[in-house]
Amino acid sequence: MALGEFDLIRRYFTRPDRPYTGAIQLGVGDDCALLQAAPGTQLAISSDMLVEGRHFFPDVDPQTLGHKALAVNLSDLAACGARPLAFTLALSLPGADEAWLGAFARGLFALADAHDCQLIGGDTTRGPLNICITIFGEVPVVQGRSQALLRSGARAGDELWVSGTLGDARLALEALQGRRQLAPAALQLARARLEQPTPRVALGLALRGVASAALDLSDGLLGDLGHILRASACGARIETSLLAPLLAAQDVALNMEDRLALVLAGGDDYELLFAAPAAQHQAVLAAARLAATPVTRIGHIEAEPGLRLVDAQGRPVSGSGPYASFDHFA
Ligand code: ADP
Ligand code: MG
Repeated sequence: MALGEFDLIRRYFTRPDRPYTGAIQLGVGDDCALLQAAPGTQLAISSDMLVEGRHFFPDVDPQTLGHKALAVNLSDLAACGARPLAFTLALSLPGADEAWLGAFARGLFALADAHDCQLIGGDTTRGPLNICITIFGEVPVVQGRSQALLRSGARAGDELWVSGTLGDARLALEALQGRRQLAPAALQLARARLEQPTPRVALGLALRGVASAALDLSDGLLGDLGHILRASACGARIETSLLAPLLAAQDVALNMEDRLALVLAGGDDYELLFAAPAAQHQAVLAAARLAATPVTRIGHIEAEPGLRLVDAQGRPVSGSGPYASFDHFA
């Protein structure tokens, strides 16, 4: 690269004005960073890779890309109820485009600073554009028990909830691919959901001790719910009438089937899907208020494996239209 690898790291990914504190004993600059988990906590660790052409368009705004690369990782911590501490950044770059790097770093660090999550190391190499972040968070361990929210804790009778809005990222994707027409204002809103998702970190923290199971929605509600149901060895019932309003783009001309398909199978939403005992209903609402994050109850967990979609009268909705392929995954 014209700009040498070490100059690039120093200029864009080192921040002498931000001393490492707390859990971080050593950051960028040596062979390893050093993290010290606080007494009574454990580390939560997750990696997510973004590949050009597969996860983002080649011409995407680099500032939003910097945001999203970290947001999808913060979202994994949120799903576990972990508090963000630090992250590493492995970057493969086709060249040292300084305008691109500056904007990417701005988007990345704006979100990192908002969550007090520091960059502690990484790797930089020439190659096709590829961004891999590994993130480290902490979760309390109380009386030998981890407080992490896992996929495996859902139980029959639990209510099933989602945060925020669903399907708008997919709507934007379809518009950007020319498969759907959207008015400029609607496209702008949907596009913000696709390119700058909001990781629900505060909600994840507030749900510790309240939710029985959680994950973040990256591949679409139906598929991701399957992960909870398999891990928890149970089934679920979802009321489709509670789903349609979850699409933020309410004034876009879409028929009900399209709307439901976007919400059920959209993907890239980075909202939390979680189960909580019915007795925790008020506690869930209190957690949502504390985190200033809207939540919607969409159904409940059942002992019988598989997923049942029902209408407002409890009649099964299945076998046709957008759900044909997602009938159940027992
Ligand atoms: P090594 O060869 O020992 O793996 P490198 O020469 O790759 O180390 O990196 C030098 C230092 O710069 C290390 O502390 C590494 O963590 C850090 N680093 C490299 N690339 C990045 C990056 N993209 N962002 C942040 N830190 C980085
Ligand atoms: Mg080394």
